[in-house]
Amino acid sequence: MAVQWVLVCHGCITLLVVVSFLCGHWPIFQGTFIERIHYFLTFGAYDYFLRFVGFVFGSKGRDAILSVEFFCCDRPNPLLQILYLAIIGFTYYFIAKSSFSYIPGYYLTGVHRYTSLLAVCVGVLLFLLTSFSDPGTVKAENISQFLSAYPYDNIIYKEKECSTCKIPKPARSKHCSICDRCVARFDHHCGWMNNCIGEKNTRYFMAFLLWHFLLCLYGTIALGLILAGRLKELKVIHILTVYYGIENSFFGLAPHVVQWLLGSYNTQILLMVFLAIVSLLLAGFFGYHARLCLTNTTTNEVVANVLIMLFFELIDGDRCSVTFKWQDYVSWKRKLNEAKASTAALKASISGMSSERKPPESKWRAFFRRSPLEDVEVVKNNVYDKGVFHNIQEMVFPFSTRSSFYRTKSKSD
Ligand SMILES: [Zn+2]
Ligand SMILES: [Zn+2]
Repeated sequence: MAVQWVLVCHGCITLLVVVSFLCGHWPIFQGTFIERIHYFLTFGAYDYFLRFVGFVFGSKGRDAILSVEFFCCDRPNPLLQILYLAIIGFTYYFIAKSSFSYIPGYYLTGVHRYTSLLAVCVGVLLFLLTSFSDPGTVKAENISQFLSAYPYDNIIYKEKECSTCKIPKPARSKHCSICDRCVARFDHHCGWMNNCIGEKNTRYFMAFLLWHFLLCLYGTIALGLILAGRLKELKVIHILTVYYGIENSFFGLAPHVVQWLLGSYNTQILLMVFLAIVSLLLAGFFGYHARLCLTNTTTNEVVANVLIMLFFELIDGDRCSVTFKWQDYVSWKRKLNEAKASTAALKASISGMSSERKPPESKWRAFFRRSPLEDVEVVKNNVYDKGVFHNIQEMVFPFSTRSSFYRTKSKSD
């Protein structure tokens, strides 16, 4: 029975950590220990670590950690790319080593030995494609094609020059401070890919997320089927009911079956839990980006819109508590520096938008509101949203890669 309690505790702790990490900032958890765990996991732990290093090694130790952080987070480096390859390689290796001897089994045919390898290879190929493809770098030579792709909305994007590249900034582009280049339809800089996600590689990035979600799901289900097959092949249910006299019902058998699986196949159980959690995370991340793609919005624009809302909240005092949560969230995302730069532009456009301010949100809606980012992710008056079909088409066939687009533009020039 002790093993079952270990399992229950393991499950509860895993669930608590995952829920706290992903959802701890939702209004529903405000003031609870889940919010405190979320704070600890997101930046509290790092803050304590920095203080600890400062206490033990003095300011030199602290500066060393900060310069490592600068190299890891603010400069292009392949650390996360290597980590990704290590995770996928070792996970595949452990699955093959622990479970391939049961394939073919009662529920899985021998073909899964090869399809699993193929699925992993396709995943790695998508990773390499996203990592090493051009996200849509804007240079003096190719700027005309990017300038004509999108109009300026005069809210987030205004006609101006990039102060670093000294070339005009096309609408929806952004200068990536990590890669030190301007990128068309900039979404975000992805540390895992060590590359920007922009106009030309959003399609590969989305394919990468979807494929890896399916890959983890495939692994979870395949391992589950292997274990179910072992139960069947070894006639465990028959032995438990006939020889041990255990009642032949779900609740009677479940604890004994779980105990037997944990005793005999703990590696597979651990791999299943790991893959299930990763597939949930990937599903959430893919869902978030799919919503952005369907409405033709970029992560960069979501952040800019949070800042616009933040500005409204600051001049509208009655929802200050929400304001400070947003500020926390945004500073965690290291985006406040950009806020300062764009505040002047926002102020200029604010008079035109203030008439469209939302009425105060009802308590009921606020209760179910999930994340401040989700609340504003569908940009109001998004001039780039041309309907789901066109938005998907634009992601799969970006403007700057279409030859027909060049021709019509050069004619009109
Ligand atoms: Zn630039
Ligand atoms: Zn970048």
